[in-house]
Amino acid sequence: MSIISVVFDFDSTLATTYVGGEMLRGHTGGMYEDETAEVHQRFRSGITTLLEYQEEGFNVIDESISEMSQRAADYAVIRPLAREVCEQIWNSGGTVAVASAGLDIYIRPPLDKAGLDKIEIHAGMVTADPTGLPPFRYDYPSSFKDTCQSGGAFCKCGVINSVRRENGGADAEVIFVGDGTVDQCAATNAADTVFATRKLFDYCNYNGIPATEFDEDFEPLLSYVLSKISENGDR
Ligand SMILES: [Zn+2]
Repeated sequence: MSIISVVFDFDSTLATTYVGGEMLRGHTGGMYEDETAEVHQRFRSGITTLLEYQEEGFNVIDESISEMSQRAADYAVIRPLAREVCEQIWNSGGTVAVASAGLDIYIRPPLDKAGLDKIEIHAGMVTADPTGLPPFRYDYPSSFKDTCQSGGAFCKCGVINSVRRENGGADAEVIFVGDGTVDQCAATNAADTVFATRKLFDYCNYNGIPATEFDEDFEPLLSYVLSKISENGDR
């Protein structure tokens, strides 16, 4: 029997909302609202990486970590049926993880609030006094540094591969669930099964990568997980 695990992107995937963007909106002196600001130009022209672009924003934010975490818990909406998917995976012995280019300070609070604190989080980690203002220190998990075929500055292949290793290696199935450009490499090069929405679904279609679409809730994913688990159980 092969163990099934799920790796979720966070912003606009596991959460229906873009929580990272919401953290910056209204709290960086207008810098992230103004699309012509230098910080956007440098990112678009490739001078700064996605992670550097994000750090620049959080380093000028006018809130402490505890204020941001509270706001994230209030604002984030976890996509319906996420809990049901997680419980099926956990009950059958698999791992549920988040792989996000975002930051733990806004990912963990909504998951804790939703009772999903068992989800492993692979994201940027912010270290600072919870009540202190930025600049913060940013650390990234070792799974970010695993090389993959893309050679990109950030990709989620390492997270998927480490979840597969933890669950028995080649026999284990790792489902990847995502929505955006940063998810393309993982969907192409690391995932066994892909569930996608928006840009990632279009990309998979265009490039002939098998993917199942989801929309308002995780019903397609839950159906798939239930069928795989009952198949395994029958063996
Ligand atoms: Zn990759």
